[in-house]
Amino acid sequence: MIYNEEFETLPREALKALQLKRLQQTLQRVYHTVGYYKKSLSAAGISPQGIGSLQDLNKIPFTTRDDLRGNYPFGLFSVPMSNIVRLHASTGTSGRSSVFSYTRRDIETWTELTARCLVAAGVTKNDIVHNAFAYGLLPGGLGLHYGTEKIGASVIPMSDGNTKRQILLLQDFGPTVLCSTPSYALHLALEGQAQGVDMKTLQLRVGIFGAELWSDVTRDAIEEAFGIRALNIFGISEMMGPGIACECLEGRHGMHIFEDHFLVETINPKTGEPLPEGDEGELVFTSLTKEAFPLVRYRSGDISRLITEPCRCGRTHVRMERVLKRCDDMLTIRGINIFPGQVEAILQEIEGVEADYQLIVDKAGALDTVELHVEVGEKFFAEAGGVKELQAIEKRIVKDMKDYLSISPRVRLVAPQTLRQKESKVIDKRTI
Ligand code: ZN
Repeated sequence: MIYNEEFETLPREALKALQLKRLQQTLQRVYHTVGYYKKSLSAAGISPQGIGSLQDLNKIPFTTRDDLRGNYPFGLFSVPMSNIVRLHASTGTSGRSSVFSYTRRDIETWTELTARCLVAAGVTKNDIVHNAFAYGLLPGGLGLHYGTEKIGASVIPMSDGNTKRQILLLQDFGPTVLCSTPSYALHLALEGQAQGVDMKTLQLRVGIFGAELWSDVTRDAIEEAFGIRALNIFGISEMMGPGIACECLEGRHGMHIFEDHFLVETINPKTGEPLPEGDEGELVFTSLTKEAFPLVRYRSGDISRLITEPCRCGRTHVRMERVLKRCDDMLTIRGINIFPGQVEAILQEIEGVEADYQLIVDKAGALDTVELHVEVGEKFFAEAGGVKELQAIEKRIVKDMKDYLSISPRVRLVAPQTLRQKESKVIDKRTI
């Protein structure tokens, strides 16, 4: 089944023509309404009328995550606040996070795109969707929520956490579709088994998983544990949220990117040069229909490869291979994207903390764990009463990490220069 037959199966030529028209409209929009883009396009000697073909795209400067932060909070918005109906944001402190906005039409577009994903996974109005993506400031949960309602299926807005209750509702409500991060799905399976619940006897038929790097090994484990088909969904919070690309039921052949709304390129992450179609590189996205927060040539940091061979499902949109690595230092911990620089910025604000720290990411069962080793002043270890102060610092670190980054690390405070010899500030022991 295809949700929007007309656009999802548009012949390539017509699709390219539509992309060019929408690219030109987007450039006009940002040039005239976003000071940052007027400046960056002018500096590159580009006027919106100067882009006459999709090949001209590589003349346009990139937009990076730093540009988003540099314009915190609302500097890149293209419409006045009176036209905005929703705000989402990434984690982080002031100036270290990004804010995303949506007009009513943007929400409708997003709703349609997540509806397309659900239909591509075979979901119909007869299904009950257990949505365990996090609801809140991050756009994960709400994106799929509206798409589910759009196609007339029933949505359980479960959000993440509260695992015991999730298992209860999986049994009592009989959902047929599970949406979550892959690691949380595995966690549910393990917890269910530990409680003596046979997860294969649930009504679940298919699952849509994403927001983390995950491999086919994990996919096999999820399919085996629940006895379901496990499909991959792709999104970028800054671009919209989940629903930029998704797999169809034709197999493990990559995710269709909704090219009528997003223009995708592959570049060499070191040089920024465009790569031939099909080469592995960093994916760069341009939003083609967004009103409130359009992004031009946004560097995703995700390394993947585009597949241009036609798909048996009939969709003409190009596919991307699952993302297995990044070209920057972003970590995804329990579905939340975190940069070491954000950890550093938080630590710098805490009195008594020294410059060096080490972040160790691992897994306990299916879930990510974080350990944070932090150097603090010598005096705390020498002075009488130092223990109390150490406890206070530790408490503050835990609280700030939770408040600003939504992670709960186990904190260990160490003496100065203990960590200097360590190989790296971040150690990621996880396999995907
Ligand atoms: Zn397909």
